[in-house]
Amino acid sequence: MTTTVTAAATRTRRLTGFQPTGRLHLGNLLGALRPLIAAQDAAESIALIADLHAMTMDHDPASVRRHTLEQATVMLAAGVDPERTPIVVQSQVREHTELHYLLECVAAHGEAARMIQFKEKSAAGGPIRLSLLTYPVLMAADILLYDTTQVPVGEDQNQHLELARTLAIRFNTKYGDTFTVPEGVRPDSAARIMDLAEPTRKMGKSTGTGQIRLLDPPEVIRRTVARAATDQVGLVRRDRDNQPGVTNLVDILAELTGRPPSDTTSYATLKREVTDAIEAVLTPIRARHAELSANPDSVRAVLAAGAEKVRPTAAATVRRAREAIGLLN
Ligand code: ATP
Ligand code: MG
Repeated sequence: MTTTVTAAATRTRRLTGFQPTGRLHLGNLLGALRPLIAAQDAAESIALIADLHAMTMDHDPASVRRHTLEQATVMLAAGVDPERTPIVVQSQVREHTELHYLLECVAAHGEAARMIQFKEKSAAGGPIRLSLLTYPVLMAADILLYDTTQVPVGEDQNQHLELARTLAIRFNTKYGDTFTVPEGVRPDSAARIMDLAEPTRKMGKSTGTGQIRLLDPPEVIRRTVARAATDQVGLVRRDRDNQPGVTNLVDILAELTGRPPSDTTSYATLKREVTDAIEAVLTPIRARHAELSANPDSVRAVLAAGAEKVRPTAAATVRRAREAIGLLN
């Protein structure tokens, strides 16, 4: 097995993807956006809004478009600096779909069909889009297109990253050195924020009822935290097995403030501290978002510039892949 690395990959380049399937929440902020922002000096990152991935299940066209623009606006409001971290809408760089097809030619049907997310989502019944089956290959294209060296991944994405590595290595072995083989990295904080109403499942855009959405009004947030599931134990401490709700609140507080809860055993006090900490972080994001969203054309311009900035790398990768696999350039 050769894990060849192309000359292009001398720098650390990270890719973090967000699907515009809904509104960004506290889990997205603490698990993905903040690590991305914190690493802006150390690594060259791309923030990818993966709109094509938002179409693998029945979708509403207007919502995908709205969420795409809103996510970009929230990223800017939260501190993504587009000069250092291009914000890229996947469908606006056509090379994603071109490379997707070329990678399908080295991917096996069985490799796609055994992806856990495909199994889970297709088990729900109803018609299954072919794109739900093939989307891990598109994700591999997203990663390989930019000579990505590092992909921050949570556990749910390990299998997809492995497929990207497998396809890169297979292509390189069969057709010659073409792709940088990426590594998975755990974000430093490794924050995994759970749903406040059902603290044994992760907070998600398209699942659960206990999300803290970054643009929720303060009153909604206060209510969601006040209703957060706790337990009868009566101790403020971390114990994920027996006190998942309280543990989640303690983790959120620690992530937001860098300190443990005050010396309290009162869940009401803990919830008040969590609410205050969330407000302290979200107030400036909300304000900046309001300013930016007053001028959506400026956000669209940021996206156009992001696509412009990364396109040469994408075009070069596709050109290498076309050449290697036998197409006329
Ligand atoms: P969906 O329900 O549509 O899958 P999602 O909330 O899981 O939405 P994604 O767009 O899949 O969001 O992921 C965007 C980024 O946010 C990824 O880097 C992902 O690992 C991270 N992320 C998502 N949910 C959480 C969470 N609860 N805690 C920490 N990080 C999260
Ligand atoms: Mg997800």
